[in-house]
Amino acid sequence: MTLEREDISALEGYHSPQVDVSVRLNTNESPYPPPPAWREAYLEELAALPYNRYPDRDATELRYAIAELHGVTPAHVFAANGSNEILQLLCLAYGGHGRSAAVFEPTYRLHSHIAKITGTDVVTGERNADDFTLDPAEVERVIEASSPAITFLCSPNNPTGLVESRDVVEQALALVPGILVVDEAYGQFSHWSALSLVDEAEPLAVVRTYSKTWSMAACRLGYVVTSPMIVQTLEKVVLPYHLDAPKQAAGRLALRFRAEMEARVAAVVEERGRVTTALSDLDVDLWPSGANFILFRPRRRDGDDVWSSLLERSVLVRNCASWPRLEGCLRVTIGTPDENAAFVQALKETLSR
Ligand code: PMP
Repeated sequence: MTLEREDISALEGYHSPQVDVSVRLNTNESPYPPPPAWREAYLEELAALPYNRYPDRDATELRYAIAELHGVTPAHVFAANGSNEILQLLCLAYGGHGRSAAVFEPTYRLHSHIAKITGTDVVTGERNADDFTLDPAEVERVIEASSPAITFLCSPNNPTGLVESRDVVEQALALVPGILVVDEAYGQFSHWSALSLVDEAEPLAVVRTYSKTWSMAACRLGYVVTSPMIVQTLEKVVLPYHLDAPKQAAGRLALRFRAEMEARVAAVVEERGRVTTALSDLDVDLWPSGANFILFRPRRRDGDDVWSSLLERSVLVRNCASWPRLEGCLRVTIGTPDENAAFVQALKETLSR
């Protein structure tokens, strides 16, 4: 007999195998560490923290810094332990028993996973099977059929890399009966952002993370830019003192290094161009990416076999080959120029065997 809730028993966990390899390109982290000056400033603050006291419950200074970065007021900003925690809080506050969340597959698996954990029904729309674009008519169909309390979009979308068009986001925003969550974990790598649509009156939540462009995956910090009303709701739902003082300091200090972050993003985007060109010369299909990863599918080789063969060459990519709608696909994170060259070489060798 299981003591778990039945719907939890039916769930599988969410994992990506971490194996010891020389080239790790499977979890979309930044290949570069944060600037050394950030580390120094952070260590200095850590040394001076009053450890016997709870942290600032409202993370005031961090919020001010994020608000300044995006040209909004702090009332529009809420931070948490990774953008995954933001997604969870949104589901806790707006989802739950008797409510539904809409996702458009294939997309980031945690959207439906977290929704289910919070007791929210998941309704599934489909992206076009060949190019993974999202048809506005499909968005309308799903929203009208199910009246979801939460509608998730992901732009750039993980794992396809496609950027959602402004038209689709605006159309969804006009249609949703509940809130529209635009997950922009990879937003800085893209040519446009839904942040420009955030407004007091709109039920729009744009979710961002420090894990990718800010080179701070180890810190687990993410945030949402949204209407003050949604921020107030999240404040009711979140655990007291959820964001520890070291993390608040880490996130606030990082924003002093915007130029360095932008240089990292530019370097990754340039490498993405190089890897795209290299893949285009190989026997694989690939999809245009606005993120720090590329989805591709070997045309004449089994995806699992190619994944294993890359692993034998000490290159780890994400194996999506058995995921629904992504048969045979692999996803490679853009790394340093050397890592990317090693990946391309290993793939060439594998495909020519
Ligand atoms: N959203 C998307 C689309 C992601 O790919 C990821 C990371 N895999 C996240 C959210 C979670 O990021 P974080 O590290 O901020 O929890």
